[in-house]
Amino acid sequence: MLRRLIAALEREPDAACPVCGGERLVWTYDLDHEPSSGPVCVECGILVPRPVLTPEALAHARRGQLLVSA
Ligand SMILES: [Zn+2]
Repeated sequence: MLRRLIAALEREPDAACPVCGGERLVWTYDLDHEPSSGPVCVECGILVPRPVLTPEALAHARRGQLLVSA
């Protein structure tokens, strides 16, 4: 998993989770580690490093909390 993350950091930013390819990312604020907030993949539960994601994907994740309950 870590290797996939590192590989993703070396690529162009993408809109999906670098580990499982899931596109459902939820901005989470109460993580118990640093960074304490960021986009978390709904599918596999990892905190996706922000440089991996496009600005659009990050913005979408921030708004995504409204979509998750739907
Ligand atoms: Zn994932």
